[in-house]
Amino acid sequence: MRLSGKNSVMRSLPLLALLCLLLSVAGDAGTLRAAAATEAGVTLAAADRAASSGSKVGAARSPGRRQERRRPFTLDIPKSVGDGEAFALRFGAEGAEALDLDLDGKKLHIGAPSPVSGIFEALLPVPLDTKKKRLRLTLTVQWKGGGKEVLTRSVPVKKRAYPVQKLTVDRKFVNPPPETAEKIRRDRAEMRAAVTTVSPVQYWRLPLARPVPGEVTSLFGSRRVFNGVPKNPHKGVDFDAAAGDPVAAVDAGEVVLVSEHYYGGNTVVVDHGLGVASAYLHLSGFNVRKGQRVARGDIVGFAGETGRVTGPHLHLSFYVLGVSVNAEPCLETDRRRD
Ligand SMILES: [Zn+2]
Repeated sequence: MRLSGKNSVMRSLPLLALLCLLLSVAGDAGTLRAAAATEAGVTLAAADRAASSGSKVGAARSPGRRQERRRPFTLDIPKSVGDGEAFALRFGAEGAEALDLDLDGKKLHIGAPSPVSGIFEALLPVPLDTKKKRLRLTLTVQWKGGGKEVLTRSVPVKKRAYPVQKLTVDRKFVNPPPETAEKIRRDRAEMRAAVTTVSPVQYWRLPLARPVPGEVTSLFGSRRVFNGVPKNPHKGVDFDAAAGDPVAAVDAGEVVLVSEHYYGGNTVVVDHGLGVASAYLHLSGFNVRKGQRVARGDIVGFAGETGRVTGPHLHLSFYVLGVSVNAEPCLETDRRRD
């Protein structure tokens, strides 16, 4: 929702209340679907004034500062966020030229509002198993014609409950032979570089397309025990898929990695812009080249069982500002009609 004039803030209050009610009914269905706290405010004009007031939140809401130049804005963020999830932020204000975000040290610069919605949109990550109870979010608004403004918010973190999953795989994947250590290290570095790419254009929009029509067979965050040995939690979502099934890009973007990895097998990474990336693992074959632009739903490869697997399936990893988060709440709901 975008509010432009001062009066529209008043007109929208009943609508906001309705929105909050609807969203509170959604409960814990997922951070993005429960995205809740729409805020329409009037902020102070200058960053230095906000900073010197001691409380930026208070300053932005203070009704007593009538002598200040006023800038209406809207800010949508969830009331709380789950660990291992991404959350959407939407910020709208007349005359805002650029927005810089800082979520506990993870930084994102947005040079322009979304051409589709006309407001600034971002996905921000909450790391799985973060120990933090609240995340500090800072928004720095760059106004057209000069001047900056800083808003801060404290975002509560809700711990999600993730299941334990016991699996049996080939022994070489639990205790990889020493000669593979260098290959594994190179794979990780390559993956890291691909998923920490932050391109300035926003290609993604929520919800994302499903990469295959199959059901989810293994959830993000599952505590995995391979052959009785506890290993890292599952940093992705597994979908039921047969070898050779086409795998579609969850959204438009640029292919930034096409490679064969020890654990991930044949892997494709698509950069969707503004720090959002998707990775498709264990493919039997590729359908794209590095540097290629893809549209939402384009086939990037074919499902398979390369790398550390128990059988053919698609593993989808989802990264926001380099942090692996659960893709599932961001995806379209299953539309299969079988
Ligand atoms: Zn997986």
